[in-house]
Amino acid sequence: MPTTLQTPLEQLTRVGKTTANQLKKLCLTNIEDLIYHYPFRYDDYSQIISIEELKTKKSGTILAKINLIENHRSPRKRMIITEAIVSDDTDSIKAVWFNQPYITKNLSSGKKVYLAGKIDYDKQYGLQFSNPSYELYKGGNPIHTGRLVPIYPLTARLTQKQIRFLIHQSIEVIQNIEDWLPRDIRTKYNFINLSYALEQIHFPQNNTWLEKALRRLRFDELFLIQLRNQLTRKKIKSRNAPVITFKQEETKKFVDSLPFTLTNAQKKASWEIIKNLEKNTPMNRLLEGDVGSGKTVVAVMAILNVLLNNYQAVYMVPTEILAEQHFKTISELLQPCNVTIALLTRNNAKTNTNNPTKSMLIETIKSGNINLIIGTHALIQKNIKFKNLALTIVDEQHRFGIKQRAALIKSSGLKHRSPHFLSMTATPIPRSVALTVYGDLDLSIIDEMPKGRKHIITKIIEQKESKDVYTFVADEIKKGRQAFVICPLIDPSDKLGVKSVTEEYTKLKDSIFQNLRIDKLHGKLKTETKQKVIKNFVHNKTNILVSTTVIEVGIDIPNATLLIIEGADRFGLAQLYQLRGRIGRGKHQSYCFLFLETENEKAKQRLKALMSAKNGFELAEIDLKMRGPGEVFGTQQSGFIKDLKIANLSDTETISYAQKVAKDIIAQSPNLEKYPLLKEKMSQLTHVAHLE
Ligand code: ADP
Ligand code: MG
Repeated sequence: MPTTLQTPLEQLTRVGKTTANQLKKLCLTNIEDLIYHYPFRYDDYSQIISIEELKTKKSGTILAKINLIENHRSPRKRMIITEAIVSDDTDSIKAVWFNQPYITKNLSSGKKVYLAGKIDYDKQYGLQFSNPSYELYKGGNPIHTGRLVPIYPLTARLTQKQIRFLIHQSIEVIQNIEDWLPRDIRTKYNFINLSYALEQIHFPQNNTWLEKALRRLRFDELFLIQLRNQLTRKKIKSRNAPVITFKQEETKKFVDSLPFTLTNAQKKASWEIIKNLEKNTPMNRLLEGDVGSGKTVVAVMAILNVLLNNYQAVYMVPTEILAEQHFKTISELLQPCNVTIALLTRNNAKTNTNNPTKSMLIETIKSGNINLIIGTHALIQKNIKFKNLALTIVDEQHRFGIKQRAALIKSSGLKHRSPHFLSMTATPIPRSVALTVYGDLDLSIIDEMPKGRKHIITKIIEQKESKDVYTFVADEIKKGRQAFVICPLIDPSDKLGVKSVTEEYTKLKDSIFQNLRIDKLHGKLKTETKQKVIKNFVHNKTNILVSTTVIEVGIDIPNATLLIIEGADRFGLAQLYQLRGRIGRGKHQSYCFLFLETENEKAKQRLKALMSAKNGFELAEIDLKMRGPGEVFGTQQSGFIKDLKIANLSDTETISYAQKVAKDIIAQSPNLEKYPLLKEKMSQLTHVAHLE
């Protein structure tokens, strides 16, 4: 039976149950998985050198004859040592292997063998090869030696040799893979074909071909994401949306009523959104801006225009507390406009004019007598129907699921049309990354803070200086201010020295700030407890709040001016920046103290960026370069990260290239009908968005 991409690995030579199980641990079950299990580096054993040369170079590959080979037990340690003497025209050398007695089954005297690796000096025996890779000479090209040798990510029980052997068995399947990237695109952009790229990434002829293979396969990963994004985008744009005409006069009146002047960045973002709402296709936009950059008022301008066009709008936030805070702020902002605003969460139902029961409120929403509804995800429920919902705003939700969006389309009350959609986030994502991760969304960025913001004094604190900081904090609290103390963990753990909320809370309460009121907050607490803790802090009934990073980013406590971050070196820069955004919101000077767990200079250098960077985006870029996308985005976008095996999210060049090609293809063939193989490839991708 010929092997195909779907052939289970068990059917390959030398794969028994045990090996198959080990392979499964690497998520390798069929040939296709194996083929897409790429090496993470290569040992360059491509030059075959003489033994004489090896003795000066100290590492490399030789092709030599085995004069003698045998196993024996080491005298003291209970170890089996395989020793061989090999020679070529120039010299001879000893090779030793430890605890691999089976080697003598493969290698025997008189045979020719490739040996690759390092040689070292042994007191008793002089120069010798220890544990070299070996491969019998069979005339053809070697797999494990004498070439750029692929090194794979593995589990403990599998060897490099095993996996190389398996992939080598799959070469024929690789050679028969049809290339889904259209030929004209390949020619135009100078890409090698897929099967050759796959063959070369595993067994490269030389570095030039390896580069070409990497270029093609990196492109593939980013391109498929881009194409998926472009298709989603097209799908969304193929729907109709309510046209929201720009009410210039009223908007101007609203802006004039604000107690501040909008920043240029706010104006630009508002304009992009308003222009977008005027189209008859749904807006699908991400508004990014640092904590405190003033996203709310931009959102409110969009809402205002929607309401003036006699449609409804929804504003969703992650928690009840934030919902209440936004209800209050937005009701105040829209006070002069005479609109009805409701708050609807699991535990709360009210409007800016009365206190209806929940079911009454739900009825009023359905009748259209409520213009704006502010709430949590509770708003996406079967029993909540709108009369004519034209705009959905989602604050700090990172990614609004396709399912949730589909549910809202259903309950919107619009016939054959979809509401406009605006997502807002304070997580600074570099533009290049946003292009990939949020490539189906249009992007507006607020990269400027309102004028007059007080600079937050930020200091890196070493262990010995912590006493001074505590004294300073106690003084500020005496003046009426409040403090956050952030720890990386909830409970003490085995990781020595990592600070936890429980521990710090006890320490601060019992020995450092005995006279102050201290409270703690973390994700394991019950929702009601959490709310109570936050309320007490908001009303200055607590002086210090010890917490993990769970506190809502958007929460506004102007009197909190002190922030201590324990184990600051454990956090990403962008995350630290966000945490710092919790202070510096009032009229008093704010201070941020970054406590270090390490003496590591590099960690310190990285944190120093917090003092110089102009905004969160700059920090996100630095993080991306220094720590890589996996660290920066963690599990949040893990789906995307998993799709990227060799491509890099900081590879802006390939990213924009991939986007260009994706747009190119869709322009030529909107439904990919010209490219059946590509169409099929796309249909296999798991994340393809369905809006039905
Ligand atoms: P975020 O982007 O974090 O949601 P907010 O919208 O909550 O920020 O705004 C933070 C604070 O800044 C609010 O108190 C808001 O009234 C104020 N603000 C917004 N825009 C401006 C501006 N242009 N000038 C001064 N203050 C502003
Ligand atoms: Mg906000």
